[in-house]
Amino acid sequence: MSDELWRAELSRHNWKSYSCGCGQTAEHVPADFAAFMGAAPESVAQKTFRDGLDNHVIIQSNIFEAAIPATSVLIAALGSWPSSAHRRRIITRIRGIVGAETFHAEVDDGRVDLELAARETARAGIWNIYRSLVEDASPSALYTLEYIEPDEARLEYFYALVRHRLPEVARSADYKLFVRRDLNY
Ligand SMILES: [Zn+2]
Repeated sequence: MSDELWRAELSRHNWKSYSCGCGQTAEHVPADFAAFMGAAPESVAQKTFRDGLDNHVIIQSNIFEAAIPATSVLIAALGSWPSSAHRRRIITRIRGIVGAETFHAEVDDGRVDLELAARETARAGIWNIYRSLVEDASPSALYTLEYIEPDEARLEYFYALVRHRLPEVARSADYKLFVRRDLNY
């Protein structure tokens, strides 16, 4: 995997200017991100990255301003030809953000609809997310697409194509696409 693309996207943002769930700025996120991307899956650095995102750009299912540039870096990383194992981890992070809501204190401070901005940002990488759905049979890719794909017929088509390879929870007869998403984007 080439590091050039996501590193450039990472350095393009002024992280100090973004609010973070820890109450500080998001200045610490680039170091956490670089550790995560440079590490083998399941390593200590993976956990570091979880610490750097969880309870920072996202707390449970609430996101903060820094989640938007974080999504952009994750999308750039998906475009860097990561291994299947890395791809799954990247998609898992994107999934968490696009399915979240804006933290109430962010709304109070005038930063509204952050989840819509995150979905818009993720939409720029839609074919790499489809790639993870098709090649990895990733349920997180499916979940992400349910939130960001404006063309429901297209997702229904791809879902039918890979359904038999998805985990049981995403291929049962009861599974309905799009039930969770807010169409207000
Ligand atoms: Zn933080």
